[in-house]
Amino acid sequence: MFQRILVANRGEIALRVIRACRDLGIEVVAVYSEADREAPYLDLVDEAYCIGPANAADSYLNIPRIISAAEVGNVQAIHPGYGFLSENPHFAEVCRSCKIEFIGPPQDAMRRLGNKNEARVLAKQVGVPVVPGSDGLITDENAALRLAHDMGFPVLIKAAAGGGGRGMRVAHNDLSLKAGLKAAQQEAEKAFKDGSVYLEKYIEQPRHIEVQVLADRHGNVVHLWERECSLQRRHQKLVEESPAPNLPQPVREEICAAAVRLVREANYYNAGTCEFLVDKDNRFYFIELNARIQVEHPVTELVTGIDLVRAQIRIAAGEKLRFQQQDIVQRGVAMECRINAEDPAADFRPCPGTITTWRPPGGPGVRLDTHVTAGYRVPPNYDSMIAKLLVYQPTRPEAIACMRRALAEFVVEGVKTTIPIHKKIFSHSAFIEGHVDTTFIERNWMQKGG
Ligand code: ADP
Repeated sequence: MFQRILVANRGEIALRVIRACRDLGIEVVAVYSEADREAPYLDLVDEAYCIGPANAADSYLNIPRIISAAEVGNVQAIHPGYGFLSENPHFAEVCRSCKIEFIGPPQDAMRRLGNKNEARVLAKQVGVPVVPGSDGLITDENAALRLAHDMGFPVLIKAAAGGGGRGMRVAHNDLSLKAGLKAAQQEAEKAFKDGSVYLEKYIEQPRHIEVQVLADRHGNVVHLWERECSLQRRHQKLVEESPAPNLPQPVREEICAAAVRLVREANYYNAGTCEFLVDKDNRFYFIELNARIQVEHPVTELVTGIDLVRAQIRIAAGEKLRFQQQDIVQRGVAMECRINAEDPAADFRPCPGTITTWRPPGGPGVRLDTHVTAGYRVPPNYDSMIAKLLVYQPTRPEAIACMRRALAEFVVEGVKTTIPIHKKIFSHSAFIEGHVDTTFIERNWMQKGG
């Protein structure tokens, strides 16, 4: 096992990894940008190095600076968290060539799966259904138009290198397809330095259901069941839960088996998530594989009792999985609300600033993953998430009641947060009955379509 690990991230996930290291008796080195100098979690580590200014390109995305900190800090491994360099195969390769283990998948699998178009090809090879769409990348406008007519509008233009909902456009007719192709290509070129796009049929009001997978370096692959993540704004998640409500058990089992097949075929190891869309008839389609720990991983930890971050570290150290598929059961119901410093009444605009009052909820069945304390200044430079509020209860009605109680206890002042919209969601009859899809938030609270 490693003696010392560097955490190449910030915020709640940095703290989450620090805690996992402590639980395993591993020393921790943190890195921080000038904007995070006062971050409370820096008091919990053995060493911390400033790696540059607030701008992520000069700090959390700067590979030479992070590797230098790792060398000076004398660590054996780096945990990348999520976002930043977590899905950058070049970074994984640099770490490993410096004899520092990257706590994540092999770089070859990352490279292949990081491209959504190639991931689709792989899925088709192993008989996992994908959303109907182009066979490969779209290079020619006329070919795109022909395909859209064959499939029928609406269609979705997607960036092969896409992520975080960027480089995606819905097209309802020829005109919007032509304009959307250009816009998506430009956006993808700017965001990912790769403007390649492909077409998918736009699935009307789908559910987003994803499967957590763990694979060790000895060929063992297991799934940890699914998470329902349909509650999104601008294709970004707000609420997650496990198990997915109203999902027939045979469909659940099929989706999970498909995820395992895919991960096995990709020669993948460590933690990963296969994302699927599920239509009204419970047909499911693979959309992408996320090669990292995800924001919503605690939902799965609560229902399975498996600590995913500890599992990631053990896998990276070469250990075999400590459980087999039949040992992994979903027990009870877990739900997560993402608390962002955003104004839900103003189209979810980020709302950085100083938190003047911070009264977090607690009590039975509540888990709060956060790096925030009273007086904390939310920097404007990074993602606006300030906390993940989770509940864990024997049944879904009890989980909903518990979340409502926890949301009512939670007082944050100084910045606007997503707490008010979560209160609305957890009082909405369709949500309470488990009838959700990815357009739920837009339909109910973002009249203009977000
Ligand atoms: P990203 O990597 O940018 O997050 P994804 O491919 O994971 O993009 O898709 C994000 C979200 O976009 C999905 O959860 C879903 O809400 C929506 N989406 C993606 N593909 C489709 C599709 N073919 N039809 C309808 N909605 C889709």
